[in-house]
Amino acid sequence: MNQGPGAFAGQPVIVGGGLAGLMTALRLAPEPVVLLSKGPLGVECSSAWTQGGLAASVADDDDPTLHLADTLVAGDGLSDAQIAMRITHAAPAAIEDLSRLGVRFDRAADGAPLLGLEAAHSRRRIIHAAGDGAGRELMRAVVEAVRLTPSITIFEDLEARQIVIEDGAIAGVLAAGASGPAIFVTGRVVIATGGIGGLFTETTNPDGCFGQGLALAARAGAALADLEFVQFHPTALAGTVRPAALISEAVRGEGAVLVDETGRRFVANVPGAELAPRDVVARVVWRHLTEGHKVFLDARRKPGTRFEQRFPAIAAACHAAGYDPARQLIPIRPAAHYHMGGIAVDAAGRSSVPGLWACGEAACTGLHGANRLASNSLIEAVVSAAWVAESVAGAFAGRGKPLREIVPPPPPDPTPIRSALSRGAGVLRDDGGLRLTISAVLPLARGNGPSADPALVGLMIVIAALRRLESRGAHWRTDFPSRSAMAQRATLRLDETFAAAHEINAEDASLARRA
Ligand SMILES: Cc1cc2nc3c(=O)[nH]c(=O)nc-3n(C[C@H](O)[C@H](O)[C@H](O)COP(=O)(O)OP(=O)(O)OC[C@H]3O[C@@H](n4cnc5c(N)ncnc54)[C@H](O)[C@@H]3O)c2cc1C
Repeated sequence: MNQGPGAFAGQPVIVGGGLAGLMTALRLAPEPVVLLSKGPLGVECSSAWTQGGLAASVADDDDPTLHLADTLVAGDGLSDAQIAMRITHAAPAAIEDLSRLGVRFDRAADGAPLLGLEAAHSRRRIIHAAGDGAGRELMRAVVEAVRLTPSITIFEDLEARQIVIEDGAIAGVLAAGASGPAIFVTGRVVIATGGIGGLFTETTNPDGCFGQGLALAARAGAALADLEFVQFHPTALAGTVRPAALISEAVRGEGAVLVDETGRRFVANVPGAELAPRDVVARVVWRHLTEGHKVFLDARRKPGTRFEQRFPAIAAACHAAGYDPARQLIPIRPAAHYHMGGIAVDAAGRSSVPGLWACGEAACTGLHGANRLASNSLIEAVVSAAWVAESVAGAFAGRGKPLREIVPPPPPDPTPIRSALSRGAGVLRDDGGLRLTISAVLPLARGNGPSADPALVGLMIVIAALRRLESRGAHWRTDFPSRSAMAQRATLRLDETFAAAHEINAEDASLARRA
C-alpha cells in the first residue's frame, strides 16, 4: 500500500474536486494540501453541471438584506439566520473574487453583470456565465487556477474510502483508485464530496454524487444534520437517460409555463405559479403525474425563438432527446437535485469531530434550512470554503505517525438502494413507506459490502424523515401535512441511527406477529 505520507504527511487532505474542494485548496495556498478527486477535475461534479449561476445582490434595486429575507422564507423557518446573513452579505464580494480568478460572467455592454430570475427570488440576482453554462465556465477558471497553484497536489481518480481514526483522533484517509490503495497520514480532513442525488432513481446529479462523504464522516463519529430535507427539482427532462438533464428554473424565469396533456396550466392557481418555491412546484407536478397526467414545460411562446441563444446547453439536451424546445412541449418530471442536510458544521466549517471539516453540498451550515433558495449553493460553497481554509490553516496537523496497513473497503455501489429510497423518501412520504425503506436498507447498511456506505446514508435520511412528524419545506409527510409550531433542526449520528432502525424493525416485526 502506498503510504501517501513521505512528502504529504500532515498536509490537510481535501476530499472532492468540485467548487467547494477546489476553493478550499486555493484559499489554503500557499499551505501545501492534498486534493483527492474521484474523477478528472471539472467533469463529474455538480459544480460543472450548473446552469443557472450564483445568487448575489449586486443589482441597484437589490440588497443583501433582501437576499437574506428570500433565503429565510425559502428555508421555511429552519435556516440558521446568522449563517444566512453572513453568506448573503459576503456573496457580492465572492463574485468579485471569482471574476479576479478569471471567471467570465455574462455582462452587458457597460460591464454590469446580466442577472437572471429564479424561483422565490424577489429580484433578478442570478449571475450567470456562458448563457446556461455557469458551471462549465466557473470550473474552467477555478480548475485552471488550481492547476497553476504549486501548493496543491492533485490526485485524480483516487477515491476516499475511509477516514482512519486512531486513539480517538483522526489519523489519516484511506483512498483507492485504478493505481491501487493509498493512505494519507493527516490530522486534518475536509469533506467536499457534494450531494446525494445518486442514491435516488431519478436525479440530476452526476453518478459519483451519492453522499460518500456523509458516510465517511458518520463512520468517523460526526453528527449529520437536516438529513430529511432533500430538494426535488420539478423540471428534470423526463426519459430513460440517467442522470436526467436539468431544465433550469431560469427557463421558467424567462416565461416558460407548465402544462399537462390537455394544455392546462395546472399550477396557475398556486401562489407564485411556475416560480413558486421549488418544493411547492415539485409536489404539484408529482401529484399531477401520480393522478395519471403527463406534464410538460411549454417554452414555445417564451423564451420561444430566443431559447437556443439564452439556454444553449439545455437546448442541446432537449434536441438530443428528440425535442425542439422552441417548437415542441418538453416532457418533465421531478428528480432528486440537492441535499439541504449534510455533515453538521459550525461557523468555521468544523464538524463535531476534531480535525474534520466539511463544505459545499456535503456540509450542513444551516443556510438552506428546510429548502434551498435557487442558486444559493454555489455561492455558499465559495463563501464557506474561505471559513474552512482559515480554520484548517490554524489547526493541529496530527501526529504524523505511520499507519498500520488497512484493506480499503470495496468501491461503493448505490444501485441496490435506489428504488427503495425513491419509493419511501421521495417527494411525498409517509410512515408506512419510510418503515418499508428501513427494512430494505438496514441489512445493507449493517454489512460491509459495496452498498454499505450508500445504504447507511439512505438509512440516516429515512430515520430523520420518520422522526420529523410534520411537513415543512422539501420534507412532505402525507400523514402529517401541517407544520409543527415546535419544529427544530435535528442531528443524527451513526449509533443513534442503528439503534432507531433496530427498534423500528422490532416494532414492525412484533406488529406483524400480532396481526
Ligand atoms: C444539474 C445541476 C444544476 C445545478 N444548478 C445550480 C445553479 O445554477 N446554482 C447553484 O447555486 N447550484 C446549482 N446546483 C447545485 C450545485 O451544483 C451544487 O450544490 C454544488 O456544485 C456543490 O458543489 P460541491 O463542490 O460541494 O460538490 P460537487 O461539485 O458535486 O463536487 C463533489 C466532487 O466530489 C467527488 N467525490 C465524491 N465522493 C468522493 C470521494 N469519496 N473521494 C473523492 N472524490 C469524491 C464527486 O465525484 C465530485 O466530483 C446544481 C446542481 C445540479 C446537479
